[in-house]
Amino acid sequence: MQLAGAMLGAAAAQRGPLWWVAHHRLHHKSTDRAGDPHSPVVLGFWRSHVGWIFEPDNARTALEQVPDLARYPELVALDRHPHVVPVALGAATFALGELLHVTAPQLSTSGLQLLLWGFVLPTVALYHSTFAVNSVAHRFGYRRFDTADESRNNWLVSVLTLGEGWHNNHHAFPNSARQGLGRLELDPTWVGIRLLVALRLVESFRPAPARALAEARRAGRATPGARPQRPVASPSSSVTSDGTSQDQ
Ligand SMILES: [Zn+2]
Ligand SMILES: [Zn+2]
Repeated sequence: MQLAGAMLGAAAAQRGPLWWVAHHRLHHKSTDRAGDPHSPVVLGFWRSHVGWIFEPDNARTALEQVPDLARYPELVALDRHPHVVPVALGAATFALGELLHVTAPQLSTSGLQLLLWGFVLPTVALYHSTFAVNSVAHRFGYRRFDTADESRNNWLVSVLTLGEGWHNNHHAFPNSARQGLGRLELDPTWVGIRLLVALRLVESFRPAPARALAEARRAGRATPGARPQRPVASPSSSVTSDGTSQDQ
């Protein structure tokens, strides 16, 4: 299941899964401060959205950030050869288009057409949806929790990323598998995790702490655009030495 998830992630063509995890942990360790690889506060909006990913300093996978995952040789191999899965997916999409061109000409499709509409355009849309979590969800939206960063809950980003846009909730409770905490904060990813658990494909997960749900219920929706009060030492967003985040 871990490898299946990693391959699914690799299909996004955003370098390897370990590369992403390592950068994401760095993001949690110094959110919106020096050392955050993609903070709009530190780097400006466009650099945090798309520029940072092309910077040579960010190209390598900081394996020291992911010792718990670097134990799995298949994940390391996937990280060393990040192009294999997306190229295979692109090739399969092209081959399907060519097959349909011959077997179902009434569809008037072709390898190139399916490659463009079934792989290239969705991949570009996926890039901007993922990157919006880093840029938009640290700039626009409402803040429920008084975290020591600029993270926001943004419904549009949540729709585009299946729940990843409840980013202020995520920074307040980074260990929680559930990011949508309020009643109207739909979180399809959380539903998916519960489904995998019900099917016994996933053994354990970290639910939202009762405190998080209670606070979400009590606080409701904070004023849109409310400024974070700095500096706030948020115990909920501290990161432990093993790179995982700790909510108390
Ligand atoms: Zn963030
Ligand atoms: Zn995170």
